[in-house]
This record gives sequence, structure tokens and C-alpha cells, in this order.
Amino acid sequence: AKKLGKGQFQFYTESLNVEARDRLALDSALRRAVEQDELYVVYQPKVDANGRPFGFEALVRWDSAEFGSVSPVRFIPLAEENGLIGQVTWFVLREACHQAAAWRAAGNPKLRVAVNISPSLFREKDLAALVMSVLEEAGLPPENLELEITEGMLMGDVQRALAVLDELKAMGVYIAVDDFGTGYSSLAYLKRFPIDILKVDRSFVIECDCGNEGLAITRAVVSLAHSLNLRVVAEGVEKQTQLAVLNALGCQEFQGYLFAKPMPAAALEAYLANPTIA
Ligand code: C2E
Ligand code: CA
Ligand code: CA
Ligand code: CA
Repeated sequence: AKKLGKGQFQFYTESLNVEARDRLALDSALRRAVEQDELYVVYQPKVDANGRPFGFEALVRWDSAEFGSVSPVRFIPLAEENGLIGQVTWFVLREACHQAAAWRAAGNPKLRVAVNISPSLFREKDLAALVMSVLEEAGLPPENLELEITEGMLMGDVQRALAVLDELKAMGVYIAVDDFGTGYSSLAYLKRFPIDILKVDRSFVIECDCGNEGLAITRAVVSLAHSLNLRVVAEGVEKQTQLAVLNALGCQEFQGYLFAKPMPAAALEAYLANPTIA
């Protein structure tokens, strides 16, 4: 920063102000979005070794009247800070559970829907009771719901995390650890929590066919999952070469553009009738 001239420094502070202003505007737009139906949910298939879908991940989308389409990478962290994450998650959970109930009614009794649960929600809210009430409202058996949590949640308040997860597990809900390999969880933690599934983070899957660290980490996660009797899903699979490596490592569940991109609920019926490898 010391090398910056006066003009450049001024430009820098100005752009910070613009960013803060943008953020404030985005913040109030998100508040309105929750009330004005600007959020919706898309579903990305998770498939088995034959390319057959066994479930879907629910991913939230925001088409803002003011800002256009805003990525969840941008607005989920904002929602976590401004306290809207509870409302956003409640919305996604309800939509997802109603969808999964509709899939069941249409003759797909085993399809599971996965919902992302933010760390802040996990800490502050009575998650198990919330989930139970949504399942009851939607008429969805707990076995048809999976919650994707992140490693960070297993750290902080371990006793609380354990209590909430045990309660969810006792209900029959499945628990997946998302973005696995990017956090700090140790073997000891993994063993202690009632976890069913590990999701290998996309950043490792991307490199698993390049023979470097991505491969080493992917291999380690797959074998860790197997030795702990957990299922393992590779996320962000885009290429046949990656799929071949994952198959060779013994990973048999996949999610990624190679199979299907996230799609609106309206497109699911056609996809289920004819799921194809892209
Ligand atoms: P995530 O949970 O790791 O979700 C996977 C992301 O990877 C999704 O991006 C998905 O569209 C993308 N993806 C899937 N396959 C591929 C692929 O083959 N290639 C590439 N390049 N990308 C792929 P998306 O939908 O933009 O979501 C980004 C993140 O936002 C999610 O990461 C999750 O952390 C968060 N998020 C999305 N929806 C929700 C939600 O309803 N609640 C919460 N708490 N977080 C959400
Ligand atoms: Ca996820
Ligand atoms: Ca993920
Ligand atoms: Ca990820």
C-alpha cells in the first residue's frame, strides 16, 4: 500500500465506500426478497455408478428485481450476517420437502432431497424441532431428507452439535458433511458424530485426474469414508477422466455437470423419466 500514489489511494477508499453502499442495498433487497417471492429452489441430481439419480441437492436461487440474478455464494454469507439465514433456510427446507413428497407420490419412494444448513443456524436455532415440523407439514418421511452440514459445525460447541445431530439422527434424517477436506475435522470428531455421508469438495475433484494433491486428498477422503463405513459423494464432477479416477478409487456416488446441472422443479419430471449422461 505504501507504493500507492495519492490518486490511487483515494480511488481505493472510494471503491470501499461503493462496496459498503452496495452491500447495504443488497441487504435490504434480500429482506424484501424473502417476503416477495424472489427466491426459488433448483435441484441437482446425485447419481450412482450407473448414472441413475438417487437424490437431489436443493440449491437456492435469487432473481432480484434490482440486482438481477445474485449467486448464493454472495447472498448466503450476507444472510448469515444479517440474521436472514433462518428465513432463507426455512423457505428452502419447506420447498425441498414438499418437492420430495411430490416425487414420492409420483412413484419415487426412495429419492432423497438434501438441504444445506448454515453453521449459524445450527448454533442458534432449535434445528431438530424446526425440521420435524417441516417434515410433518409436507408429509415427508425423515428418510427422504438429508442435511448437508460443514466441518466447522462439528468444532465450535461440540456438545451442542452432538445433541442436535443425535436428535436428527434419531428422527431418521440423513447427515452429510459437505465440502469435506476443506475444514479441520479430525478422525476423532468424525467418529464421534452420527454422520452418514462425506462429500468430497469440488476443489479436490477438479484435480483428481491431474495426479497431484487433488488426487491424494480425494483418495484419502474416499478411503477414510470407507474405513468409517460412510458413503462418499464426489461433487463437481465435470469430466469423464475425473469420473474414471473416482471409479478406480472406489467412489460410487457423484454430483456434477457431467451428469446434470441444477434444474428447476418443473424440469425434474422429464429428467427422472430419462436421466442421461451429458
Ligand atoms: P455447495 O453446497 O458446495 O453446492 C455445490 C455448488 O457447486 C452449487 O453451486 C452447484 O451448482 C455447483 N456445482 C455442482 N456441480 C458442479 C460442477 O460440475 N462444476 C461446477 N463448476 N460447479 C458445480 P451454487 O448453487 O452456486 O451454490 C454455491 C454454494 O452456496 C453452495 O455450495 C452452498 O454452500 C451455498 N448454498 C446454495 N444454496 C444454499 C441454501 O439453500 N442454503 C445454504 N445455507 N447455502 C446454500
Ligand atoms: Ca452442499
Ligand atoms: Ca459442497
Ligand atoms: Ca464445495
